[in-house]
Amino acid sequence: MSARNKKPSICVLGGGTAGLGAAYLAARAGAATEVFERRTIPGGLSLTRHTGDGFYHDLGGHRYYSPSRYLAPFLAGLLGDELIWTPRKSRFYLGGRFFDYPVQFTDVARKLPVTKSAKMLYDYVAEKFRSGNRREASFENWVVHRFGRALYEFNFENYTRKVWGMEPSVLSADWAALRIKGLSLGKVVKEFFARKADIATLVDRFLYPRHGIGQISHFLQKAAEERGSRVHLGSEVVKVRHDGKRVTSVTARDTKGRTTTKKPEYVTSSIDLDLLVRALDPPPPPAVLAAVSELTYRALVILFIRINQPQVTRDSWIYFPDESIPFSRWHEPKNWSPAMVPDADRSSLVVEFFADEGDAFWNAPAEELLELTLKHGRRLGLLTGAETGKVDKVLTPRAYPVWKVGYRKSLQVILDYLERLTNLSLIGRNGRFYYCTIDESLISGFTAVANFLEGKRTGPEPLPIEIPDNALGYLGLSSADLVEADGERWSRND
Ligand SMILES: Cc1cc2nc3c(=O)[nH]c(=O)nc-3n(C[C@H](O)[C@H](O)[C@H](O)COP(=O)(O)OP(=O)(O)OC[C@H]3O[C@@H](n4cnc5c(N)ncnc54)[C@H](O)[C@@H]3O)c2cc1C
Repeated sequence: MSARNKKPSICVLGGGTAGLGAAYLAARAGAATEVFERRTIPGGLSLTRHTGDGFYHDLGGHRYYSPSRYLAPFLAGLLGDELIWTPRKSRFYLGGRFFDYPVQFTDVARKLPVTKSAKMLYDYVAEKFRSGNRREASFENWVVHRFGRALYEFNFENYTRKVWGMEPSVLSADWAALRIKGLSLGKVVKEFFARKADIATLVDRFLYPRHGIGQISHFLQKAAEERGSRVHLGSEVVKVRHDGKRVTSVTARDTKGRTTTKKPEYVTSSIDLDLLVRALDPPPPPAVLAAVSELTYRALVILFIRINQPQVTRDSWIYFPDESIPFSRWHEPKNWSPAMVPDADRSSLVVEFFADEGDAFWNAPAEELLELTLKHGRRLGLLTGAETGKVDKVLTPRAYPVWKVGYRKSLQVILDYLERLTNLSLIGRNGRFYYCTIDESLISGFTAVANFLEGKRTGPEPLPIEIPDNALGYLGLSSADLVEADGERWSRND
């Protein structure tokens, strides 16, 4: 289908990666576009914070990875020399030892007593041969059925409990299916008897913007504005009027309390699904509002620590699934890009505490979180002698949509209701209540707008993992870029 000559007006709710990706494509196509973003900086969950004294950090390290073959060349074109390759080396600490991350059966087998690793292998093989009808509604069942109970208890149970603040038996199997790759029985057995780690698979690399992941959003915003889009930062969407069939207007309020109302032909929303539904005027039926109150989110408390020494460790990330350690993960931004620190003599750490809004971590003073980090970091030999500078506590509400067993039913009620608004499409992570990554968020924004330009709307079907054909031309991509994607330059992108 060919694009219409007169380009429609489009309103984009939310200025994270999905929203700015949508605005970028719309602007390139010549459509009049307005973006409303509540925060005063763009990027949403993948923004990069500038501390004002020369440090940069993400809200928890964000690496770019994607099965898409067009997106890496697209980002290279957008960011130019600001996109760099970063070495990846991660570990996790559990039960008094460090292991390679992602978990390697051979590494575990080498480091654990032989009886324990043999039990893991036995449970794993036994599960492979178990038959019968098995329920797989929960995360716990899903993982145990694929990996065996011993490996589940070793590698998945503690960390999952820490991340979600709930028992893995009440977390939906959907999350496991989305995020955990399978192991092959043949490979495990071969590795077990070889008992030798394949180092090549442990040291990898990934693409990362020189000054933090938030640069992607900054570049998208700048390019969209240069082509006539308007990006309103510090503008919260407070009302979405509709006539039961279409969204008729969008009202946003700025930081000074002034409101603006737009009447676009199309609306694409990446703001949290429950906030969108609550902003609808007239409001939806009580059953939809009840379904919305079932959607919950997990938050993150970040402690940013300046370090007065050149480096803490060489790791990209260290994971701490051990329940005796209060934080879950940390990363050292300088190991991702040297430009993340003011000078070569200093470094920094971004320590992640999973939390619920209003809980003990959420309310703890930064000094208390620092004390906890130093106590455990020193005990593990990671922060011995490290001289720390000023610390900042950064609250990240709604970092993770929580997929509890049964969440799909509530979500479906909401999606069914929104389907009737034919000029509205949902994009991004909290916008679709879907646990998506940066690439999927971007592609969802591109897809929604490319479809609008053809007079179509994108429904609630699963997100595409590749930029669709009808979006490529607007993005200035062609099969020539794919040739490059197949070649040496992008071949090691995982
Ligand atoms: C700790 C952590 C680590 C991660 N690591 C990775 C990684 O390594 N690689 C990866 O690919 N992905 C990673 N992700 C996922 C990635 O952050 C998301 O996929 C991506 O940022 C989602 O972008 P989005 O635009 O869909 O949503 P968001 O970034 O949530 O954007 C939505 C925007 O809407 C705005 N908004 C909300 N309400 C309103 C309102 N009423 N009015 C106006 N604006 C509003 C918000 O302020 C926000 O800016 C990670 C996520 C977290 C939390």
